[in-house]
Amino acid sequence: MNRRAKIVATLGPATSDERMLGRLLSAGADVLRFNLSHGDLESHRATLRLVRRVARAQHRQTPVLLDLMGPRYRLGILPQGPLTLRAGASVLLGPESRAVDLPVDDPEFLDHLTRGERILIDNGLVELEVTAKRARSVAARVVHGGVVADRKGINLPDSKLPFAISGKDAKDIAFAVEEKADFLAASYIGRARDVEAIRTLVRSLGADIPIVAKLERAAAVEHIDEIVEAADAVMVARGDLGVEVPLHQVPVLQKRIIAAGRRIGKPVIVATQMLESMMVQPRPTRAETSDVANAVFDGADALMLSGETAAGKFPIDAVKTMAKVIVEAELYKLRTFQSGEVPRDPALPAGRFPAPAPRLLEGANLSGAIEIADVIAAAAVHAASKLEASRIVAFSQGGFTAQRLARYRPIVPTFVFTTDAQVARRIQLLWGTRPIHLEREVQHRDDLIEIVERELLARKYVRPGECVILLMGYPIRQKPLTNLLRIHRVRRSESAPVTRAAKKRR
Ligand code: PGA
Ligand code: MN
Repeated sequence: MNRRAKIVATLGPATSDERMLGRLLSAGADVLRFNLSHGDLESHRATLRLVRRVARAQHRQTPVLLDLMGPRYRLGILPQGPLTLRAGASVLLGPESRAVDLPVDDPEFLDHLTRGERILIDNGLVELEVTAKRARSVAARVVHGGVVADRKGINLPDSKLPFAISGKDAKDIAFAVEEKADFLAASYIGRARDVEAIRTLVRSLGADIPIVAKLERAAAVEHIDEIVEAADAVMVARGDLGVEVPLHQVPVLQKRIIAAGRRIGKPVIVATQMLESMMVQPRPTRAETSDVANAVFDGADALMLSGETAAGKFPIDAVKTMAKVIVEAELYKLRTFQSGEVPRDPALPAGRFPAPAPRLLEGANLSGAIEIADVIAAAAVHAASKLEASRIVAFSQGGFTAQRLARYRPIVPTFVFTTDAQVARRIQLLWGTRPIHLEREVQHRDDLIEIVERELLARKYVRPGECVILLMGYPIRQKPLTNLLRIHRVRRSESAPVTRAAKKRR
């Protein structure tokens, strides 16, 4: 395991059969994303079950992330076909049933628009400005002209339109609960309460699915911290973000969102057009490889491929290319950090240097249990670097300690054992963390150490005699939060049990 940042690959027509899924995983895809804006639920169900099967066959913990469409507005069917809009012209938007220039799909949103607000069509290609409101329709002036066609997407960057869970999203959430999705991604989030609304719906269906809030609305930019706080992870959704805010602000927003996530230990995914040219070419542009590397330098936990793997001509090459660029960028980061070439910054991994001290706790609103897990995670990372331990190994029931560990960006690989298969899958999103699913419950501390050693040796994740930092909750039977840090030397011979107590129980 020499890559730390994870790869999220979107599935689609190019990657939905068993063979391609297997190749995607072998190439390095860590998380598989279903884009629910496309396709029907029954075919998603079939693919999702196939994913579970393929992952099991490869002994991988592969989480599926279901990406909700969100409250998406679109043009309806244009009666005269594609329409050329010229700057300065006046147009009328309204329901499909009316004689208007631009019919829209779900006309209720028009009621919320006010004079002077922008209406962007087809990724911002065409820009309109609201000039007057009529009953159930809106008059607008064309600011930037262009050709518009049926069903093109609409963005409303100035609108105070409240977030609402659409009928489609509600159905898709029920589907996610039914199929035990590992993550839900929520589109067009504007405030923390929008995340909460989705969480409430998921809970009312008797489930608890971590929510990835997609930051892609102008409105969300003013509320980054509260959204990061409310969500379980966030996505820098640069596609829509680049439509809703001026494009030149996107790189800085990427850095701000990643920093906000890092500050409180929530994973951040950087998404959209990372290797866009690989949709049609086997090799990326130089700018794209730099973009991937820079997302790593910014400190992202995961990088996402969308069309590249869903519908591109070179999905496997895209994953392999991304993996290679990530590894190279991480190596550089490590070396320059160690030689002191660049000033230390919080996005750099904690290295062989003095502790990621309490300084890193600043800004985080920590309390009680979080604080304990956080302190012990920081201590483990510190111990690993001071003692030159080769691995950090945690036994984590709920994955909480794993999340805190990833936050401190340990220089050594981190292995997290859990007896919960879904927790194991969810841990896969975390930076630098490899989950291992234990099939059966463990009752005693010595048995656990025994099992952990055996597993790690068998998979060649550690070598005999190496020093590892072990984290666990003790006593194990009571499933407490992590409260024990053990500096452990892996046994030298295959057969000798770790402790006398474990020997006795054999
Ligand atoms: P989407 O989200 O691809 O579902 O629109 C990502 C983005 O907007 O960047
Ligand atoms: Mn989007």
